[in-house]
Amino acid sequence: MSNVKCPIIELKNISKTYYIGKDIEVRALNKVSFTVDAGEFVVIMGMSGSGKSTLLAILGLLDKSDSGSYTLLAKDITRFSDNEYATLRNKFFGFIFQSFNLLPKLDIVANTILPFIYGEGKSSADEKRSISILQKVGLGDRLKHKANELSGGQQQRVAVARALASNPLVILADEPTGNLDSKTTAEIVDLLKELNDQGNKI
Ligand code: ADP
Ligand code: MG
Repeated sequence: MSNVKCPIIELKNISKTYYIGKDIEVRALNKVSFTVDAGEFVVIMGMSGSGKSTLLAILGLLDKSDSGSYTLLAKDITRFSDNEYATLRNKFFGFIFQSFNLLPKLDIVANTILPFIYGEGKSSADEKRSISILQKVGLGDRLKHKANELSGGQQQRVAVARALASNPLVILADEPTGNLDSKTTAEIVDLLKELNDQGNKI
């Protein structure tokens, strides 16, 4: 990895408050600022309810802050429209969640290219790419398996493959090992670190 710092994401003074009814106010984020540089592997830790998922949703353009600024690839996108956010989200971000969110009856190749099947229909190039990503995450010998025929750790590997399929600039993972035992947790964390070291080249 190069030593030259190149900010991908810059958040400044990001705040977010949820309102429940009229009276209850939950300040989930209070003036959070930080920068993510190219190639960085960043872990956000905090107690349950401390605002991690809220921050991840804002980082991944799934939600907007109430105040503060968001600079993505040197462009201030704070006031972009929801449509522009959706376009940038699809182009630049891959997501992994605690629940694997796979379609149980589809094989893992189909699950990996699901985002594209919903788009314009799958091509043989997509399928080839999906297979090579699945090999990369260690599932080359499970290609014919349906998602519900895999262990939890293997299912999360499919979710990692699906997140990689659009060749995103940034992978955001919200408690990706929350449903896994400690050995499998270590394997998934190692896989994510390895992918980060490789710079997601497929
Ligand atoms: P974490 O992921 O660190 O557990 P969250 O970002 O999910 O924390 O939540 C931060 C705080 O905001 C919590 O107190 C939570 O109850 C509250 N919160 C999260 N989402 C909502 C929502 N949609 N409506 C109201 N309150 C919410
Ligand atoms: Mg959370």
